Amino acid sequence: MTVFDDLVGQDHAAAVLSRAAAAAGEVVAGGRGAGMTHAWLFTGPPGSGREEAARAFAAALMCPDGGCGHCDQCHQMLIGSHPDLETVRPEGLSYSVRQTRELILRAAGAPTQGRWRVILFEDADRATEAAANALLKAIEEPPPRTVWLLCSPSPDDLMITIKSRCRLVTLTTPATEAVAHVLATRGNVPPDIATFAARAAQGHISRARALALDEDVRRRREAVLAIPRSLTGVGECVSAAERLVKTAEDEAAAATAALNENETSELRKLYGEGSTGKGLNRGLVRGGAGALKELEDRQKSRATRLKRDSLDAALLELVSFYRDVLAMQFGAEVELANDDLRFDLDQLARSSTPEETLRRIDAIMQCRERLAANVNPQIAVEAMMLALRP
Ligand SMILES: [Zn+2]
Repeated sequence: MTVFDDLVGQDHAAAVLSRAAAAAGEVVAGGRGAGMTHAWLFTGPPGSGREEAARAFAAALMCPDGGCGHCDQCHQMLIGSHPDLETVRPEGLSYSVRQTRELILRAAGAPTQGRWRVILFEDADRATEAAANALLKAIEEPPPRTVWLLCSPSPDDLMITIKSRCRLVTLTTPATEAVAHVLATRGNVPPDIATFAARAAQGHISRARALALDEDVRRRREAVLAIPRSLTGVGECVSAAERLVKTAEDEAAAATAALNENETSELRKLYGEGSTGKGLNRGLVRGGAGALKELEDRQKSRATRLKRDSLDAALLELVSFYRDVLAMQFGAEVELANDDLRFDLDQLARSSTPEETLRRIDAIMQCRERLAANVNPQIAVEAMMLALRP
């Protein structure tokens, strides 16, 4: 077994990465290591496992056996606790130049354990232009033992100057059977639920895992997919919009609450809240107020992003429903993402035309664009619901 075995349906990428890890091993041993590169760009559709692939590669770089999957080095890399791994996750809507500069300074240090220092940059497409420029300098002249692993949905999301300095690893959407197989064998999920979850998630691995293991996630999906049949009048459209926006907000709030609480109490501890000392300590508490304000701003921006992402995910779920309807109307021999709702799909397919279905899909896509342009969610979603009404 190796760390690359966990990459679902990515045989080509796994082969490239394990060869590169072997070359990196030669460099560590004092050899030339032809084929080793200091900057990598992992791209692929959402859910294809970009971060997982990057993390597996990072483990293979550290592991004396090229990624055995069970030694300490592999383990620490995979769970993200290795001292020579720095994971960067933009939490707001974008990644600032100040954050990038700090990161570059840290990246310049030599590895503590002698092999490599790995910077794993998730969502590198969220770096601002100024931040990307700072990043470019670091990638152009990497310290001898630093490896940059950038992740983004598509190579075109990054500045061409960055892209051209990275070796590209392209991941593809894994097949339903491959995802179902992993859920069943590794996650102990019963085969029928594994197949349902893999199909409904359409190749999005973490989504499939959530659907298979979390009943709340399954319930939320059901609620979203019940919308098309509930749109019988204008009043129903308005309340469906309210429900959808509220559900997305609740989901995002649950995700942020836990994160925020932890960070805030860590920061308060750091600045010595609760102590009543004088002098130095008071200065620390004063500095703490500024840091706390900054943290709150960051948390607010993250909450906005999570809310937006969660509503967008629900809209994509609706798109998959109408795409299934369209496939039925055309009699296409394709796998239906929402096979469990065959009855609803069939009814709508019979009672409407393909043109109407296409118009509905357009309405959802337009709603997504308006949300991305900061239109009030209730207004944008309401307009969409009215367009979806039979
Ligand atoms: Zn290992």
